Amino acid sequence: MTAGTYQVRDPRTDEIERPLRPPTPAGLTDLAARLRTAQPRWVAIPPTRRAAALLAWREEIASARDELVAALTADTGRLTESVIEVDSVLGMLERWAAQAPALLAPPTPRQAAVPGIEIRAGGVPYPLVGVISPWNFPLLLGLIDAIPALAAGCAVLVKPSEVTPRFIVPLMKTVARVPELSEVVAVVEGDGATGAIVVNLVDAVAFTGSVPTGRIVAAAAAELFIPAFLELGGKDPAIVVAGADLDRASSSILWGATTNAGQSCLSIERVYVEETVFDEFVSRLVDKAERLKLAYPQPDAGQIGPVIDPAQAEVIERHLTDALEKGATVRCGGRIERLGGGRWCRPTVLTDVDHGMLVMTEETFGPVIPVMAARDADHAVELANDSVYGLSGAVFAADAEAALAVAERLRVGAVSINDCALTAFVHEGEKNSFNSSGLGSSRMGHASLNRFLRRRSYLINNSAQPDPWWH
Ligand code: NAD
Repeated sequence: MTAGTYQVRDPRTDEIERPLRPPTPAGLTDLAARLRTAQPRWVAIPPTRRAAALLAWREEIASARDELVAALTADTGRLTESVIEVDSVLGMLERWAAQAPALLAPPTPRQAAVPGIEIRAGGVPYPLVGVISPWNFPLLLGLIDAIPALAAGCAVLVKPSEVTPRFIVPLMKTVARVPELSEVVAVVEGDGATGAIVVNLVDAVAFTGSVPTGRIVAAAAAELFIPAFLELGGKDPAIVVAGADLDRASSSILWGATTNAGQSCLSIERVYVEETVFDEFVSRLVDKAERLKLAYPQPDAGQIGPVIDPAQAEVIERHLTDALEKGATVRCGGRIERLGGGRWCRPTVLTDVDHGMLVMTEETFGPVIPVMAARDADHAVELANDSVYGLSGAVFAADAEAALAVAERLRVGAVSINDCALTAFVHEGEKNSFNSSGLGSSRMGHASLNRFLRRRSYLINNSAQPDPWWH
């Protein structure tokens, strides 16, 4: 190990705890080689036995639940979402252990159009998959791609964000207690420099993070001719049209915009409301937003945790200043507060906003809800699609069919109907990112596992006759 220059901070106090401890480049190269050496044994065991190893890991994570929640709470400063992260991972392990064997079963052979030729399909996993993940959900996003890759038969090298490394030690303890698995999965500390080395050591990379870093990773992967699955930033819109249940819409949007203090790729970052119901919607939203409390001084004191990364607090501040300078009205919240050394932002509702403001066009990644009036559903769709992003969105209308008629015109990969941010909990629906929000096959649904297999076909000539084209 070498001491990195990055200093790990406590998000609640801003105190420096310790330097980051990344492996040396040579140590990382050795680790990748060890994972590669073990992978052929892992892929050779039946998928049902790999599923059993995933379930054994699930048991270990369940027994280490408290320790993991404590580490994640230290990493991120928030408690409720740390519990959700661990429980989501338990669910993912269970789901992939149940689904992977059937997904990996060889499909029924079929006849080719050419007479006498049979096609048998197979999948060959990438030997070593690199996972590079962000700080907003350290455990969940460190494992959401790693688990299906392992189920597929790959070895996996995970490099989470330098901002939130404390969960790695307790997680690796759970891995160590499952011998078969411990040979094929490793999670290492490190910053961008370590991430760049990881990209160079693997056969495919699953990256979750910002658009600028995603672009760098995609370019590096292109040089290496390896696939990069990119899950990047978003500016998710919610649309509320006349006839929607405004009580429901305001409660759901408030949750979707402020959970994890707005630090989610799938956060609602802008709201378009049909002008006839605008005032009533805003009044309900502000009323509910003002009732939410900061999780300060104790992590269980309220719903809104601290801003995890100081750099993100600067982005939020820049967006708020820009909006206020350009005429936005603060209906509640409205600034970064320093409490106990940490950086906090109360739920912030803004009106009098437009697309000339950063808060409507760039990812804010904070509990900030700019609400803009739209003339009608067409206008709301036009505004929602006026974005460089295209991750997901939400539509509220009188009923599901009315909402779907609006939703199908949005250029995003998933739309929650009469609800918000459902992709946080529902991982079975396949989705692609639109625009700059990502690249590659769906992380959700069966495609999530299938993208870690290269397709191979066996073309079998069962005919006793010579092919007509032979010499
Ligand atoms: P980031 O891009 O700064 O960092 C992400 C990861 O990339 C970190 O582990 C970092 O160390 C690593 N990295 C940095 N430079 C690298 C390089 N040159 N080569 C390889 N790796 C490198 O993102 P962040 O600030 O940690 O996370 C927040 C961003 O993540 C937001 O934009 C958010 O929307 C996005 N995100 C997307 C999803 C999704 O599913 N689409 C989910 C969560 C977060």
